[in-house]
Amino acid sequence: MNVHARITTDVLSRLRVAAGPGGVVEGPDTEPYCISWRDNWHGATPLVLRPDTTARVAEIVRICAETGTPIVPQGGNTGLTGGSQPHATGNEVILSTSRLKRVREVDPLNDTITVEAGVTLLEVQEHAAHAGRLFPLSLAAEGTCQIGGNLATNAGGVQVLRYGNARALTLGLEVVTADGAIWDGLRGLRKDNAGYDMKQLFIGSEGTLGIITAATLKLLPLPTDSAVALVAVPSPTVAVELLARLRGALGELLSAFELMHENNFAFAQETMGHVDPLPGAGWRVLLQADGPQGREAMTDRLEEALGAALEDGHITDAVVARSEAQSAQLWRIREDQAEVQQRMGAGIKHDVSVPVSRIDAFIAEADAALAERYPGIRPMSFGHLGDGNVHYNPIRPADWTDADFKAETEVVNRIVHDIVIAMNGSITAEHGVGRLRRAEMLRARSPIELAMMRAVKRALDPQDILNPGKVLPD
Ligand code: FAD
Repeated sequence: MNVHARITTDVLSRLRVAAGPGGVVEGPDTEPYCISWRDNWHGATPLVLRPDTTARVAEIVRICAETGTPIVPQGGNTGLTGGSQPHATGNEVILSTSRLKRVREVDPLNDTITVEAGVTLLEVQEHAAHAGRLFPLSLAAEGTCQIGGNLATNAGGVQVLRYGNARALTLGLEVVTADGAIWDGLRGLRKDNAGYDMKQLFIGSEGTLGIITAATLKLLPLPTDSAVALVAVPSPTVAVELLARLRGALGELLSAFELMHENNFAFAQETMGHVDPLPGAGWRVLLQADGPQGREAMTDRLEEALGAALEDGHITDAVVARSEAQSAQLWRIREDQAEVQQRMGAGIKHDVSVPVSRIDAFIAEADAALAERYPGIRPMSFGHLGDGNVHYNPIRPADWTDADFKAETEVVNRIVHDIVIAMNGSITAEHGVGRLRRAEMLRARSPIELAMMRAVKRALDPQDILNPGKVLPD
């Protein structure tokens, strides 16, 4: 619960001044900042602050600290857990990083780029490419989400298999702390053991511990070419075996390995007109290998590895992209999955992870348990198989209404999360807790782990002004 008092007109005036010229949004214009991407979280705020420098962010936070005013940090507002919208009370200000847009430094010899929090993920990728380097974090919202938001949620995406998540790609941070101080931790070091690694606390903290204003990120060699294929597999277990096999054959060239259920293709055809490249196949994997050998050679190498897998029954059919356009077409089906789900009617979404070896068991157990309770429920799961991350999003039975199915959310979550917890998995692999999974944290994390998290929160934000009512359960 957000128990903070209404913000006085005097505080609002001081905040307007601190945000600087062009730095304030008020009235009906605040509405888009208060609604989530999926339109499932709605809030209210008297003021959206859009400072254009770290100094202004710090001044705003100092005023908020002095007056006990809660702040909801916001980047691109593409988060999926209700973390970036204010509560409905209207007692919180939104601090948007969207005008913190500077690229402070590109250092190709150190393989680093230092950007401010409001630079979009796509822009970071483009700046890196301009310097002849790769910034490999990649996800479907990359044109809108901002690097500050990516780090605050420790975003994953489709290339974690090869390059790691946001945490693994971050070398340094600049953070405005809850008392309005500026911590300059923008060190581009790959080895640094001087005390606790503070940046790792802020990464993934979803705006509850500090406001990330800039980051120094790792760059990698730009792979010149990619080979992409969609393959049919008999089951998720065989997909896991295929993953191990392809890693053996392709080494670290394998950068994406995305498992999708046959329903994902049927629903993509039904709602968005995507033609199914492997009609009649069951489970499929979309995979990509990146390397410097040239597209033809890369594709030949991938094809050779897949040919051997076909002979051994690890795959039953395959489409290998022979052009950039074909690759893009295959990826579009994967990238449109969030949209497809929106159009299919009510689904109950889970972002779970289990050990890779347990994925098949998890899907089978969850499917069976839900089918027993909700006959006709339509499974829809896709995920970053190589990371053990499944977006397990069953859609309502065709004869149920959206509202009736949504009313079952808690029961469905309980069924799915019980299976995950029993497998020593996580209730959120990459989207985070926000408000959506806050109550579930009581079951997902042990009392001692929650006590440590609360101690960290108290130490860094003693007044609870940074994104109150998010992440940590009451
Ligand atoms: P926001 O939504 O604005 O904020 C997210 C959280 O971070 C909030 O709690 C907010 O308070 C906090 N925050 C934002 N900026 C800051 C800051 N500068 N300092 C401190 N706290 C801050 N996520 C994945 O991990 N993998 C995916 O594959 C993926 N695919 C997606 C596909 C689609 C179509 C969509 C809509 C979302 C997807 N997401 C995915 C979720 C989302 O894009 C990511 O969580 C993204 O990292 C959020 O960035 P953002 O700038 O939009 O943050």
